Amino acid sequence: MNRDFLKDKKRIVVKIGTSTITHMDTGHLNLLKMEKLARVLTDIRNQNKELVLVSSGAIGAGRKALGIKERPRSLSEKQACAAVGQARLMMIYQKLFAEYNQTIAQILITKRTMINEISRQNAENTFLELLKMGVIPIVNENDTVSTDQIQDENFGDNDTLSATVAQLVQADMLILLSDIDGLYTDDPRNNEKAEFVSCVDKIDENLYSMAKGADTSFGTGGMATKIAAAKIANEIGVDMVIANGNDVVNINRILEGKEIGTLFKA
Ligand code: GLU
Repeated sequence: MNRDFLKDKKRIVVKIGTSTITHMDTGHLNLLKMEKLARVLTDIRNQNKELVLVSSGAIGAGRKALGIKERPRSLSEKQACAAVGQARLMMIYQKLFAEYNQTIAQILITKRTMINEISRQNAENTFLELLKMGVIPIVNENDTVSTDQIQDENFGDNDTLSATVAQLVQADMLILLSDIDGLYTDDPRNNEKAEFVSCVDKIDENLYSMAKGADTSFGTGGMATKIAAAKIANEIGVDMVIANGNDVVNINRILEGKEIGTLFKA
């Protein structure tokens, strides 16, 4: 499918997963990648497009800061890691974006923010005001008070959160960066005949069965949560692309209409 229409996207939500901004072997933050991400996003802002970044990585960063070797199991331990890690994550983003004179903001939300009409309206107003100011809001779930995301590893997560954010800010595009190239007909790590799917027009049961959870030690969502996000996004008229975040320049390529990743057409 010709993707030239993606060149016209003006308000974009980009989601980056823990596995993409950390070194898989050590779990430490991948500073080079975060630095490149800051540069790429600022460059997109320089093209007069509006951006919201949904970034995971708080629990992972906190775990490293606290020297916890095993993946934290108890909820309170995860929350403590998130509280330490979120501050650290933002400190690093702040530093990196400042290099390019790009102002960022931190927004922590929960499902409740969305359900409650008043807090939803407040969050929306804040987002829109920040975008008008040229700021890049960086969003994560407020893990300390909400456990939707970190309790059930396969249900709530930043994938679906980013689709909800796209809805809240009336974005016209959602880009999910992960450690996989996009959707395959089967798990490519186990089945060499698995074929890459470049475009999805319709999300049905068959598609869910294709989505084998690509779980990693540091992130939470698999392909199933990404498809759930695509469903939310597509239903509200937002096109979504899942692409490999290993090379963050993929964000530019997607917005140039290049055939990168899997496009879920609204
Ligand atoms: N909010 C959590 C974090 O920042 C995890 C979210 C996710 O991996 O989707 O660590």
